[in-house]
Amino acid sequence: MDSGTGRYEFASDNTAGICPEAWAALEEANINEAPSYGEDCWTARVCDRVRELFETDCDVYFVFNGTAANALALAQLCQSFHSVMCHEYSHLQTDECGAPEFFTKGSKLLLISGANGKIDIARAEAVVGRQTDLHSHKPGAISIAQTTEFGTVYTRNEIAAIARFADAHNLFLHMDGARFANAVASLDCAPKTITWEVGVDVLCFGGTKNGTAAGELVIFFQKKLSQEFDYRVKQAGQLGSKMRFLAAPWLGLLTDDVWLRNAQHANRTARHLADRLRNEADIEIVFPVDANAVFARMNGQLAGYLQSRGWHFYKFVGPDIYRLMCSWSTTDKSISDFTADIITINH
Ligand SMILES: *Cc1c(COP(=O)(O)O)cnc(C)c1O
Repeated sequence: MDSGTGRYEFASDNTAGICPEAWAALEEANINEAPSYGEDCWTARVCDRVRELFETDCDVYFVFNGTAANALALAQLCQSFHSVMCHEYSHLQTDECGAPEFFTKGSKLLLISGANGKIDIARAEAVVGRQTDLHSHKPGAISIAQTTEFGTVYTRNEIAAIARFADAHNLFLHMDGARFANAVASLDCAPKTITWEVGVDVLCFGGTKNGTAAGELVIFFQKKLSQEFDYRVKQAGQLGSKMRFLAAPWLGLLTDDVWLRNAQHANRTARHLADRLRNEADIEIVFPVDANAVFARMNGQLAGYLQSRGWHFYKFVGPDIYRLMCSWSTTDKSISDFTADIITINH
């Protein structure tokens, strides 16, 4: 087994290494001593680059990971007696060990279903309609993931519709953008067109799955919402003293559109993988492959065989749906080898 090379990896896009440009930026930041706690020039440059990229004067904060980004952003938007509407399969609900509830000190997650990992607004209306008086949590925010946990991408119009719903019910709109880069690559749009222009208040912009080692950005598009957020970050143990080493790799990503090229590569390889599985190995692909995730229906015997051959991937939903993630480092060879292994067992 050759697990050191990434050749057998489809488990997640965070199994990939640090991309060369982020690594080079990290090395460059390591040459000299520098001010701590974000007072350094790399942090300042990343914040400036983010404002340039989003074409607006936003507030930008660093935290170590996506769970903290989401939970602290929601805690900033909600009182403890508020609720947060999110998809029933959202990372908030299924993968954060109660961090949103913990950091908000009581905000309840209101789970909304909907096809392909996207919130169904009619169902959200029905849920909000049942939270009408002071005996239930007061809806305070709605959170959508872009891309979604099922690898699909909300269009600009779909986000605008969520924003109208949020507006009508006085909710803040939070976007979990752990894979925001993949969404921008998929839609081939300016980042502002799917965020503040359509009413997103706070974006958690992920770098880890795009090519850094750690470090996610919390971006407030309305500056008044970020008041004292620095204290919240510090109290949560998320303020890096050597913040330049979170920031420098981000600068590597945000220079010459490396972030976008990494995401485009991940998306392209996922489409390629899905096409080959469908066409050559007769595998059903369950959700639209809008970005860098492929959800494949396989029986337990096939999945077990592939895993015994050294392939890493997880069962995700239902009894027989497995998730295959592509990243900036996924190679055509790994796609060919994986497809070939499936064809071998099927014959
Ligand atoms: C990976 C991911 C996160 C962040 O997870 P951490 O492990 O806490 O960094 C957040 N949201 C989604 C949808 C993710 O896939």
